[in-house]
Amino acid sequence: MTETTDNAPEAPRSDFIRDIVTQDLASGKNDSRVHTRFPPEPNGYLHIGHAKSICLNFGIAQEFGGLCNLRFDDTNPSKEEQEYVDSIKQDIRWLGFDWDDREFYASDYFEQLYQWAIELIRKGKAYVCDLTGEEVSKTRGSLTTKGQDSPYRNRSVEENLDLFTRMRAGEFADGSRTLRAKIDMASPNLNMRDPVMYRILRAEHHRTGNDWCIYPTYDWAHGQSDSIERITHSICTLEFENHRPLYDWFVRELGIYAPRQIEFARLNMTYTMLSKRRLLQLVQEKTVSGWDDPRMPTLSGYRRRGYTPESIRSFCRRIGVNKYDSTVDIALLEHCLREDLNRRAPRAMAVLDPIKVIIENYPTGQAEELDAVNNPEDPSAGSRKVPFSGELYIEREDFMENPPKKFFRLSPGREVRLRYAYFITCTGVEKNADGEITAVRCTYDPATRGGDAPDGRKVKATLHWVSAAHAVQAQVRLYDHLFAKPDPSDAPEGGDWKDNLNPDSLKIVQAQLEPSLAKARAGERFQFERLGYFCVDSVDSSDQPIFNRTATLKDTWAKEQKKTQ
Ligand code: ATP
Ligand code: MG
Repeated sequence: MTETTDNAPEAPRSDFIRDIVTQDLASGKNDSRVHTRFPPEPNGYLHIGHAKSICLNFGIAQEFGGLCNLRFDDTNPSKEEQEYVDSIKQDIRWLGFDWDDREFYASDYFEQLYQWAIELIRKGKAYVCDLTGEEVSKTRGSLTTKGQDSPYRNRSVEENLDLFTRMRAGEFADGSRTLRAKIDMASPNLNMRDPVMYRILRAEHHRTGNDWCIYPTYDWAHGQSDSIERITHSICTLEFENHRPLYDWFVRELGIYAPRQIEFARLNMTYTMLSKRRLLQLVQEKTVSGWDDPRMPTLSGYRRRGYTPESIRSFCRRIGVNKYDSTVDIALLEHCLREDLNRRAPRAMAVLDPIKVIIENYPTGQAEELDAVNNPEDPSAGSRKVPFSGELYIEREDFMENPPKKFFRLSPGREVRLRYAYFITCTGVEKNADGEITAVRCTYDPATRGGDAPDGRKVKATLHWVSAAHAVQAQVRLYDHLFAKPDPSDAPEGGDWKDNLNPDSLKIVQAQLEPSLAKARAGERFQFERLGYFCVDSVDSSDQPIFNRTATLKDTWAKEQKKTQ
């Protein structure tokens, strides 16, 4: 891991990929062009792992004066949808990147890929195989045993051309034949053992409709798509390292422009599942409310939760890129978020679990307005008026009738500060017939207006509060990690990964808020004093805002950093 703690979240950094690009530029390779691409498959929403790849590909293009394409790798019609294309575009823009007019689709290259397949057949480098999918896998061999040649491997060029043309024409049933590259069934690299290039599949494609009943495999499409777009540095994750010889073989046999593929380690993060297949399952089984559920590690989920694009870019910059698989602590992402929101989020007061405070000596029916600072980190944010009266709400956990030794907040006989308001001293409690506390009784000291005692006396706690008569009620959604285990894939014995879901990942409360929050707009972010960062839900809020907790204030990452310094 190459984490840094410096405070310049947007500064470019150096890594082995940028070193390669620098060297290639210095040597004049590719006519000194830098051209990357981000190649999502439109079969799901983008997640934080994709953000790493986006920041890398678009970031390198920006830093080296190059270009980055957006290319949809849409070779699998049964799993792809327009909804995903649209969401991917929205999320990349939100993250702060732009592909201008360079929006491409592998499906735009279907005809070219088909012509290239014919070319390989003509060269005797590809053949139509009648083995079923199951038979192809069975005869592929293993890491320790060679594969077996297909009985159809030595078909004549003429027969192959005839059969392949008829495959395209729709004469054969789905799955009955494939086109395979003729490479080497004894290769130590399984990807080189006559890989499938085309399969017969009658499925409507989100862009080409029913034009095709044969579809190229990812392996056959990917490298050639890069070549067509004259990508100089084709950056992908490590699992494609042993596909590289195949991609190189294809472009060499075709005699076309050869991009350079560079692999890096994908992002893994604690308490986070980054497999699109599994995220889709959570959506389909309604474990979450959708791809944009604020607990999802998708960019749309983070956006709705209240994350800023700046915080995600800062995270991606800090984790860096390297060649070795590792798992990043989710606390780092949350730290990047807090760092950003601390600077920009206006403060407000809200009580999530209210208990009433009655101030005995405050004139009945009176109210006043007190000044509250909007953001101590940003003087230009100014201040606002907060109403105060003789009946308030404070957080239930800020009061204890019989406090243990180390409890310094409100309790009978104890004096505390109400933020921006007064010192109050608890005189007793009111209880119902069941003995439950229904209100806390206090007196206030009028001389402490604004929150300071002129005689210099100190209190050990400052509480947040809202005036009961002025408060607005709102639903607040308290989110926590979606998974309870640091490694959510690590299934318990006899169970599966879904057993690791956190049963307490969402708690809904009715909170009392200071009145200024009534007009908060969708997507607006606040720091509720002492509680955390909150964002107005952009989907479910109507005339009344609903708040999502983006993060608590407890920065475990910053704490750990301090310890190790
Ligand atoms: P799957 O979840 O099925 O493995 P995928 O995440 O690879 O799919 P793609 O749409 O193919 O989905 O990914 C687009 C690009 O994002 C690819 O270049 C891929 O390497 C990169 N990418 C995907 N996941 C991560 C990750 N966790 N970390 C870094 N890059 C990733
Ligand atoms: Mg992929």
